[in-house]
Amino acid sequence: MLKCSLHIHTTEEPYHVLFYNAHELIDEAKKHNFDVLAFTSHDFLFFPKEITDYATKKDIILLPGIEKKIEKKHVVIINATPETENINNFKDLQNYKTKNPNTFIFAAHPYYPGSTNYKNLLKENLKSFDAIELCHYYTKNFFNYNKKAEQLAKKEGKHMIATSDVHIFDQLNKSYILLNCEKNPQQILKALKKGNYQNISNPLSPFDFFKISMGVLVITQIPSHIKQIYYRMFPKRRKKGIIYRENIANFAKQNRGATSSKIPKKTKNAKLPARNQKKGPKKPR
Ligand SMILES: [Zn+2]
Ligand SMILES: [Zn+2]
Repeated sequence: MLKCSLHIHTTEEPYHVLFYNAHELIDEAKKHNFDVLAFTSHDFLFFPKEITDYATKKDIILLPGIEKKIEKKHVVIINATPETENINNFKDLQNYKTKNPNTFIFAAHPYYPGSTNYKNLLKENLKSFDAIELCHYYTKNFFNYNKKAEQLAKKEGKHMIATSDVHIFDQLNKSYILLNCEKNPQQILKALKKGNYQNISNPLSPFDFFKISMGVLVITQIPSHIKQIYYRMFPKRRKKGIIYRENIANFAKQNRGATSSKIPKKTKNAKLPARNQKKGPKKPR
């Protein structure tokens, strides 16, 4: 089984200032025996060759990912391509999904409070999503905004996917999935699409809940806004994206079938493994 974490932020992204960079996150993930990771920066495809090479050295597969803000909601796209830049609304998302059948798309923290709460938008656009996030940020008794997502998933036959929306290391090993497939990008994408994985997620203890709440609040909020102002003043600092574009193209070429080619419409006996959704977590932005 492959241990995977598919919703991770690092300090390289324009939006956040975090206490670790991508190299350090990979080192930390290695300590916890992760096999597959995806950096999912806010509206920013962060996939430099230097980082994918580093992950490869550590025997970790890195998938290109992004957390897109669409109509104010957060959407995680795994195996994302540069065309994600053109997605501005849910109609665009559906078109993107149709054209890129091997991407894996899930609704991030859909019912957590705030402007990112999907309200009816998730139900209305459900066919644009492969799964719904089971966010690590929840407790057993007093804080759980995953319940509504779990009800919807159950009713509509969608898979939940456990993630940790990592902003601090304490979150990394809290919720993740175990994928049942060979360790290569094609098989990983296929297994994700088929829901061939197990969610591993437990409620946070009150202590962890407090620690993570404080950590995420302090680290992300204030410095992040300063960083955004900085990028607004020096927009060229973001142009490294061009390099990432090349690396994503290389990734696509090397993993034919993981990206451009079509996933067979019907997988024989597409019997989906039971979703082991434990309680749902919630997530910070
Ligand atoms: Zn996130
Ligand atoms: Zn988010």
